[in-house]
Amino acid sequence: MSSVRRTATPDSLLRQEVLDMQAYSTPDSVGMIKLDAMENPYPLPQWLSEQIASLAAGAAINRYPDADPRSLKDVIRTVIDLPRDLDILLGNGSDEIIQLLALATAKQNAVLLSVEPSFVMYKMIAAFTGMQYVGVPLANDFTLDVPALLAAIEQQQPALMFLSYPNNPSGNLFDAQAMARIIEAAPGLVVVDEAYYNFADSSFLPMIKHHPNLLVMRTFSKLGMAGLRLGFLVGSKTWLGQLEKLRLPYNISVLTQLVAEQLLRSHDVLQSQAEQIKRDRVMVYEHLEAIDGVQPYPSAANFILFRVRHAGKIFQGLKERGVLIKDLSRAHPLLSDCLRVTIGTPQENECFVQALQESVRQCV
Ligand code: PMP
Repeated sequence: MSSVRRTATPDSLLRQEVLDMQAYSTPDSVGMIKLDAMENPYPLPQWLSEQIASLAAGAAINRYPDADPRSLKDVIRTVIDLPRDLDILLGNGSDEIIQLLALATAKQNAVLLSVEPSFVMYKMIAAFTGMQYVGVPLANDFTLDVPALLAAIEQQQPALMFLSYPNNPSGNLFDAQAMARIIEAAPGLVVVDEAYYNFADSSFLPMIKHHPNLLVMRTFSKLGMAGLRLGFLVGSKTWLGQLEKLRLPYNISVLTQLVAEQLLRSHDVLQSQAEQIKRDRVMVYEHLEAIDGVQPYPSAANFILFRVRHAGKIFQGLKERGVLIKDLSRAHPLLSDCLRVTIGTPQENECFVQALQESVRQCV
């Protein structure tokens, strides 16, 4: 019996969620002052890049990486002062950890809940993994709407929740007591995403011992290692022992292991860059506040969200002046006319402020 063989096409074969998705896109930034992606703007001191060069020269890149890099984990433990009874799971960036958590909890009809506006990958990864996504709007001032969240938790019974602390893109730290109420009300896992921890000085890590459903996630991307891709999850051995099963064995490359370990041995260098960024954040905020028609939001991260009139035009005006920031004005109704700028070097910040003043002037 002969059957007609149909050729597979994306439309016929792929899941509807995938067909409906927009790929995560990054703009061309060649030759621009790049203040769009929350990167650390500072290069490493020469003595440290020389150490790394010699490590890279001797790296066994013909071998698979260590599947369980103990010495890297030990350095991370020291740097974050992790209590003995807690464990670490390493990810190829914290994006990968979000995906792993979703894969682990994606039973049929399972719900991933977060607030909006927040980090876009929570929603995207829910779609990747076939989870139902629920986004509870923040209040107008980007604080948690606790009654709405408690009602959504009660109704949706989420298996997994993410709270970005500080929140991307608004930059604020949510009220800690409100967070605790939500963690207590949640029937599933709550992940506090502390990607911007180094600029915030506030953490839920000490709270893990009080909440058995709490995990804390961090990344080294904002501290100067975005190119290495290294994030980690902290939690009890009970949770992490199960989640480890989903981690691909060689997810942290040979070079990332070597370089990150070396850089973390000089953590003070990176932390002092973060301290500089925190000081410059105050300057940029004050400059933004002083511009007529610009409303910045207080930030505990390495970026500032601000509202302007005609955000689209201002964004273009900045681009024409060689400064790339992030236009969020169409990302969510609460973000109408909002732009987000990453804190750069003092010189970059100055160029940004000047380009913004000119663009605003051109728009009135
Ligand atoms: N969480 C938040 C809140 C973020 O803003 C980001 C990056 N923009 C990430 C996680 C992902 O970071 P990475 O994958 O580089 O570790």
